[in-house]
Formats: sequence, structure tokens, C-alpha cells
Amino acid sequence: MTQVIVIGGGLAGLAGAVALADAGLQVELYERRPILGGRATSFIHPSSGERVDNCQHVLLGCCVNLVDFYTRLGVAEHIDFHEDIPFIDESSRVSVIGPSALPPPLHLLPSFLRLKTMGIRDKLSIVRNVIGMIRHVAKLQRTGYPSVAPASSASPTTPAAPASAAPASVAPASVASRGAEPSPVTMAAWFDAHGATKRAVEAFWKPFLISALNDEMDDIDADYGIGTAVRAMLLNRSGYEVGLPAVPLGDLYAPCIDYIEQRGGRVLFNRGVTGISVHDGKVASISLQDGSSVEAGAYLSALPFDVLCRLLPKSQASDPYFSMLDGLSVSPITAVHVWFDRPVTELGYAAVIGRRIQWIFNQSSRHAGAFSADNGGAYLGLVVSASDDWMKTPRQVIIDQAMEDLESLLPAVRQAKLLKAIVVKEGRATFAPRPGCDALRPGPSSPLPNFSIAGDWVQTGWPATMESAVRSGYQAAEVLLRTRGVRTPILKPDLPAEGLMKWVTGLRGF
Ligand SMILES: Cc1cc2nc3c(=O)[nH]c(=O)nc-3n(C[C@H](O)[C@H](O)[C@H](O)COP(=O)(O)OP(=O)(O)OC[C@H]3O[C@@H](n4cnc5c(N)ncnc54)[C@H](O)[C@@H]3O)c2cc1C
Repeated sequence: MTQVIVIGGGLAGLAGAVALADAGLQVELYERRPILGGRATSFIHPSSGERVDNCQHVLLGCCVNLVDFYTRLGVAEHIDFHEDIPFIDESSRVSVIGPSALPPPLHLLPSFLRLKTMGIRDKLSIVRNVIGMIRHVAKLQRTGYPSVAPASSASPTTPAAPASAAPASVAPASVASRGAEPSPVTMAAWFDAHGATKRAVEAFWKPFLISALNDEMDDIDADYGIGTAVRAMLLNRSGYEVGLPAVPLGDLYAPCIDYIEQRGGRVLFNRGVTGISVHDGKVASISLQDGSSVEAGAYLSALPFDVLCRLLPKSQASDPYFSMLDGLSVSPITAVHVWFDRPVTELGYAAVIGRRIQWIFNQSSRHAGAFSADNGGAYLGLVVSASDDWMKTPRQVIIDQAMEDLESLLPAVRQAKLLKAIVVKEGRATFAPRPGCDALRPGPSSPLPNFSIAGDWVQTGWPATMESAVRSGYQAAEVLLRTRGVRTPILKPDLPAEGLMKWVTGLRGF
């Protein structure tokens, strides 16, 4: 009998499968689609014939487990890390956030003071907010942050598990662990209460937080927003660096198949799981779309949370560990891919201020032939997070609106001919980081002892990202290995606090 069945070939399932295979277990991975990568993948677009990523995916320097996963697969060299982050504003002015010799949290300060996108009053409000954020995180750490117990020391079979399952990190506080803390507030409310200027929010916080957390400021739990800002921008010198794959996303996962097979396992495509059977308090088998069923000693689910709940027997799905997932909501992301007959910008990528489109990625300059740019033309990937407004908007209207933005930002677009455009709407891109959502994220150990759970929505201390997905896969693998008496940690520790951040009370020792 197979030792472990992994269900789902997104990043969580792949990370879990690779870690278990590395630990010497024989793994069978069942994926519903003919491709790997789930929500972070590439595919051939049916009408254009272009191979595209569903959406540009960005990682940050603080995504240590994702980088570890790429390193295991031998593809880490395909991620280019950038120290400079260009911002382009409503008047097409470009400012760059970049490093300096100052110690964290001051390392980005000189470039920040040079930003042309806002005035001195706005900059001062950002400095005040940054100090407030460091204080906020330090206080949460001192007064019951879920942080310091690694997943391997968790005893997580109940809804209270998230707090203990979260790895050491600058993590949002779980509601369970807030203790005497006040109820969660939104990021917008926190900025209001802390005197942020309107322009500082528009031109600085929004480009970073909306794309990192995929929701509007009115909807983001302030603990998530603040934890993310501190972890990425303040704690460590390299945490903010922007990692962009130099190859299509699908190419990053291709080695998984050999990797798992060389260790005695298999990856099975087009094998959707249609049910999970439970007997005597354990998972006994899974049924597949062709009517067959398969058994293993243990199971790792890396399914989206709604799919998992549908596949379980009703008696299990009503267990609070699973049923609390009904409270999680989702948030969309839209990608627009556009091809022009000529180059339209020298920028490799840029965050956009004050427009519908939030990021521009110059794929033809970065991918060196991996994506076509049609004979010296240009191929841009545009991204809009929290794109609720576009979910019901016709594709041609979205293309027209994106072009209007591009023409105003990049003057060369006005002379260029648009050759083709593709819109990819991902309605369920991530779970929404709404106030209180943290208490709805279960730990990796389910109430069924041979069934561990992964997915970017599982309690990892991170918002829904590729890093969270990989962390969840590693956590779930640790849980299954622990049932076999293997206690080797798989999760990598976070980047350490550096510079002055080492001396901030409460953050010390991260
Ligand atoms: C448009 C978009 C842009 C994003 N941008 C970023 C970004 O820039 N940076 C970042 O860090 N994150 C980003 N994310 C989030 C990131 O993609 C996800 O957090 C991550 O990929 C989730 O991985 P996962 O394995 O948890 O889930 P998924 O990727 O959803 O994996 C689930 C897998 O299960 C499979 N499956 C489903 N049902 C069945 C079944 N019945 N049987 C078998 N298999 C099944 C699916 O096909 C899929 O392969 C973005 C997401 C989207 C959608």
C-alpha cells in the first residue's frame, strides 16, 4: 500500500510531497488538472496560443520556505531578486525605493525620503506609522503572539490549534491569542486612528498592502497588514526584495515529477478526487473521478478549503475544525496580458499609484525569450488585486480600461499598436484577510490522525501567498512524520531581526 497520498498539486501539495519524499516516504500525488501549480501556474491560452502565467507572481526576500522549496528542486536560480522597487505615479514620474547602508529598520529610509510621489507631511505620517507598527508588533509579541512554537511542537487537533501551530514569525495574532487585546480593526481604521495622511495611504501603503494581502484597506485585518509590513520592510535588510521568476511558473514545478518518482513515488494528472472515506476515525480511502478508489497509510490534503469540505463525509465536515472554514471569504485578482508591436517602457516592473492597474511587469524584458514578444515588440503583464469591480465587467471593457491607464502612465503606449490582449480573472484568488479571519484558519493536524491539512489558508502566520502554501505543505509533512516518530523540522526559520530591530523589545530573538 502507498505510504502517503497527497491530494492537490498546487504549491502546498507539491511542497508537502517533496518534503515527504525527501524524508524517505513513498508518495502518490493526485491532481485534478493536467498541470501543476494550482493558482500559481502557466498554461497555453486557448485562443491566442500564448503560454502565459495565470498572473505574475511575486515573492519577497522574506519568503524563506518558498526559496527553500525552489532550492530543493534546483530552480532557485530562476528567481531574480531586485533591490530596487520603482513606483510610477499619476504624472508618470518614477521614484525608486531601494537599499542604503543604514541598519534596519532605516535601510529604506533615504530612498523613501527621496520619493517624488508625496510631500513632507505625508512622509512624516509614514514615519510615525512605521514607529506605531513596530510598537504594535512588539506589543503583540509580548502579550501573546502565537509565534514562537514551531509547528512541530503543536498539538493541533482543535480550532484553538492555530495559535500553537503558527511557526515563529512576525505573524498576525490569532484572535484566540489576543487575550485582553481589543477586537480586530481594519487597516483603514488603524491608519485613521494613527493620523496617516490620505496621500500617504494612496501613494505608499496601498500599493504595498493591497497587493500583499489582496483586499481593500477597509477589509484587511490590521494585524495582518502591520505584521506583513514589519516582516517585509523593517525587520531584515533583504526581507523587502522583490523576487520575479525568469521562467514561466510551470517550469518551476516541472522537476517535481522526477523528484518524486526518483524517490519511489508518482504524480498522477487528471485524477480529480471525488470523495474522502472515513472509517473508525481515520481516512480509509479516496475515490477518484473515474470511479476507482485508492488507499494509503496516511493522507495529506492540499485542496482549496471549500473543496475539502465538500469531499468529506457530512459527519466529518460538521466537526468545528472543518465547519469553521465556512466563515472564510475569498477575494479576486485579475491579470491583463497585453502585447504591443514595439517596446513601450524601459522599466522591468513598477508599482502604479492612483490608477486601476496596480503593477506593470515587463515580461519581454525579463523573460529572455521564455515568453514571446512578437519580433521586438513588448509583452506587459498587468495586475489588479482585490479586483471585485472587474469580476462582472466584460473582458473588452477591462482591456479598454487597462489601456487607458497604460496610455496615461507610459507615453510610448500611445504610439504603439496593441497586437493582442488576454484577461485572466481569478475569482477565488486568495482567502480574504478580513478582521477576525485568523481564528478561522485551522492548524495542520486534523481530527483524523492519518490526515494532515495544507493550503495557503491553513494557519501559517502568513497571509494567502506562495510562502504560506509552501509553509503549510511543510507543516503538514511534519505532522505526518511525527506520527511515525520522525521529529526532524522541515520549516525554515524566518529571517532574523537585524540592525536596530534586534533591540526592539519583544522582537528580540526572532
Ligand atoms: C491571480 C493570482 C495572483 C497571485 N499573486 C501572488 C503573488 O504575487 N505572490 C504570492 O505569494 N501569491 C500570489 N497568489 C497566491 C498564490 O497563488 C496562492 O497562495 C498559492 O498558489 C496557493 O497554493 P495552494 O497549493 O494552497 O492552493 P492551490 O494552488 O489552489 O492548489 C490546490 C490544488 O488542488 C487541485 N484540486 C482541486 N480540486 C481537486 C480535486 N477534487 N482532486 C484533486 N486535486 C484537486 C487544484 O487543481 C490545485 O492544483 C496569487 C494568486 C492568484 C490566483
